[in-house]
Amino acid sequence: MAKIRTVLGDIDPADAGVMLTHEHIIYANPGADLDHNTIYDVDEVSTTVAASLDDTKQRFGLGTMVDLTANELGRNPETLKKTAQKTGVNIIGTTGFFPERIGIPYHFRKQDIGYIAEFFERDLTVGMAYANRLWDVKAGVIKIATGSSDGYDGQTPIQDSGLRVTPIEERIVRAAGRAQAKLGCPINTHTEPSDYEVTNPGLEQLELLIEEGADPTKVLVGHAFVHPNIDQMIAIIERGAMLQIDHIGIPWRHSSADELDDLIAKHVAELADRGYLDSMTFSYDRFFHWCHTGGGTESNLLNEAVQMSYLWESFVPRLAKYGFGEKELKTVLVDNPARLFAWDVK
Ligand SMILES: [Zn+2]
Repeated sequence: MAKIRTVLGDIDPADAGVMLTHEHIIYANPGADLDHNTIYDVDEVSTTVAASLDDTKQRFGLGTMVDLTANELGRNPETLKKTAQKTGVNIIGTTGFFPERIGIPYHFRKQDIGYIAEFFERDLTVGMAYANRLWDVKAGVIKIATGSSDGYDGQTPIQDSGLRVTPIEERIVRAAGRAQAKLGCPINTHTEPSDYEVTNPGLEQLELLIEEGADPTKVLVGHAFVHPNIDQMIAIIERGAMLQIDHIGIPWRHSSADELDDLIAKHVAELADRGYLDSMTFSYDRFFHWCHTGGGTESNLLNEAVQMSYLWESFVPRLAKYGFGEKELKTVLVDNPARLFAWDVK
């Protein structure tokens, strides 16, 4: 029977409850784990995050949170495990990488597709390697990421392949596709919002994954609501994948949360009206603990400011104005993610 793989073990999808599909307990740019000024206390952070999750569970029924932190962005199995042990909310861990512009450490750039696919498989079925140790913490999802990412508002340059996916990113995406084809696990993706002006990055990712044998119904495309285009969104869903509604309350690439929230709400309601309710999940993309110095050229990201109550207290009333009610909410918060994140775990 299909199960959801959490950092503390496998659970029945019927027990997952309300689910947020893309958050970060820790966010650290590659290299921050080597800086004196970004050392954090694992016990303190895990206690604080667990308390916040329990509060969200008590008030709004949160049952499961996906920590979509890529391997090189501060993913720490000890923090994942300790947080999960201290909270009643299930936590799903991730294996995968950020876009080449920020992530994919040189070691992995030198590996071929087959090796990277096996690396993902080990993270999903054996446990994570971290700080020179093998941990008894397994990933429950693969993350892939393409495009320029934050701090750069232009589009990703077109490559020789005709795609806006760099050759190194393409290797990672293909490896994820191969691992998915073998294991049946879910994939959650990061697309570059500004690329939607010149291509459909969600479809580009899907085509590469499908070429490697991946099942598109196990793919959740992220960040498409940040620069929403209804025809592009429908094309992604018609190809078989789901869309993640993210950046609620986080005005990424927009002048205010109000502006982006309204854009998102309109598109969510329109997709539901047009019969695509079963193809969406919710999340913030929140940073619970950001390992930053507050100086240098670090951009002032807003992912840590949004409150965990925001979805229910601010965004749900906005959705209701567009006719999106409790029944629809349950489908997107409970049923859809449970289906996506369940796989025949090995
Ligand atoms: Zn994220």
